[in-house]
Amino acid sequence: MNPQALVQQANRELDVLQSAQQVIRDALQELGYGPEYYELLKEPMRMLTVRFPVHMDDGSVRVFTAYRAQHNDAIGPTKGGVRFHPDVTEAEIKALSLWMTIKCGINGLPYGGGKGGVVCDPREMSFSELERLSRAYVRAISQIVGPTKDIPAPDVFTNSQIMAWMMDEYSRLREFDSPGFITGKPRVLGGSEGRETATARGVVICIEEAAKRRGLNLADTRIIIQGFGNAGSYLAKFLYDLGARVVGISDAYGALYDEKGLPIPDLLEQRDSFGTVTTRYKDTITNKELLEKPCDILVPAAIENQITAANAQRVQASIVVEAANGPTTLEATRILSERGVLLVPDVLANSGGVTVSYFEWVQNNQGYYWTKEEVEQRLVQAMRQSFDKVYTTAQRHDVDMRLAAYMTGIERTATALRLRGWL
Ligand code: NAD
Repeated sequence: MNPQALVQQANRELDVLQSAQQVIRDALQELGYGPEYYELLKEPMRMLTVRFPVHMDDGSVRVFTAYRAQHNDAIGPTKGGVRFHPDVTEAEIKALSLWMTIKCGINGLPYGGGKGGVVCDPREMSFSELERLSRAYVRAISQIVGPTKDIPAPDVFTNSQIMAWMMDEYSRLREFDSPGFITGKPRVLGGSEGRETATARGVVICIEEAAKRRGLNLADTRIIIQGFGNAGSYLAKFLYDLGARVVGISDAYGALYDEKGLPIPDLLEQRDSFGTVTTRYKDTITNKELLEKPCDILVPAAIENQITAANAQRVQASIVVEAANGPTTLEATRILSERGVLLVPDVLANSGGVTVSYFEWVQNNQGYYWTKEEVEQRLVQAMRQSFDKVYTTAQRHDVDMRLAAYMTGIERTATALRLRGWL
């Protein structure tokens, strides 16, 4: 990466962390907590940086850098995914661990936030190199993680196979079978029904609830989804099945838009495992253009900082539901809110994933497994309750849904800190 791109990337990461910190500060202030609460909660209480060697297939040895952040464990063990990505940085992992505390708090899960990341490019690694990397990461962080301490899960570019290797490595180290060490596992190894689709299911529930509040009938709405990966593609399928008109989708290479509605089943068949589909089409538009196209509901489901002060005025949707983490800047949040757009923030909208991860951990601890219907029913109930809590808080305090979500999410941790006598 050239020096200018490196500076831009560093600024973006600081933006994400600073935005998370700013909303936590505002939320604590609005709730009446003293400055010592912000001082403690603005950063993870524990941040481990590790470096470890991995033997590559060509006989060379590469040294990887990785992180594990534990934001706060006053409520219970910390919980959060592990991402494998070349752009992983300490600031990003810190921000993601803060967000996990808020997500767990909103949903009343007995966890604090955690997050991990390995600086690597899994797209350029073989299956066996990925296995050695996954196992080495677990050995490097094993002292601070565990089923009652800190429970990892999948995130960007990690999947159920990687979770299986990590669980196996941890079980070997501890010399007992530990399915509750990690969630997002294959079902045969203690994974939960419904985990793979949980994030998208949760987003759909938020879309339904938001549409209800705005008097929109989902079957009459036009929806744009930015990103066609795990979150975006399942979301497109569920919305299409519900009769909504998905008029736009995109991936890293471009976007497709059709006012009459896109053929979602065909697009799902054509996408590759990295969520790419638009490269098969000629009449594409850019991601930037897609965000400003006519629609009723816009769902950013790709990457950070997509709706900014530069384009927020031109977003035509009346509802924005953030499936991705951090897709809207704080300035854009303010602009959308002033324009009367209902923005359902990431910490609420995409929290279906961690909710079903919690269900998986509960099932592992009980050694008793639920049916798909049971998982879905509990997820629908949990997400509806969470949406309602946040929406009511927003109305009661006359604040936007993002601040209301942080207030709802941080209050449990702040109360736990007080009751434990830490603050
Ligand atoms: P993914 O890697 O499966 O898919 C990402 C999609 O975004 C792909 O279609 C990719 O082509 C597209 N994309 C990448 N760079 C882009 C760019 N510059 N512009 C436009 N599109 C781009 O990832 P995912 O799991 O679907 O996650 C997407 C977002 O949702 C992330 O912010 C992630 O943190 C968040 N999220 C996902 C889950 C989950 O369970 N998958 C849970 C919570 C939050």
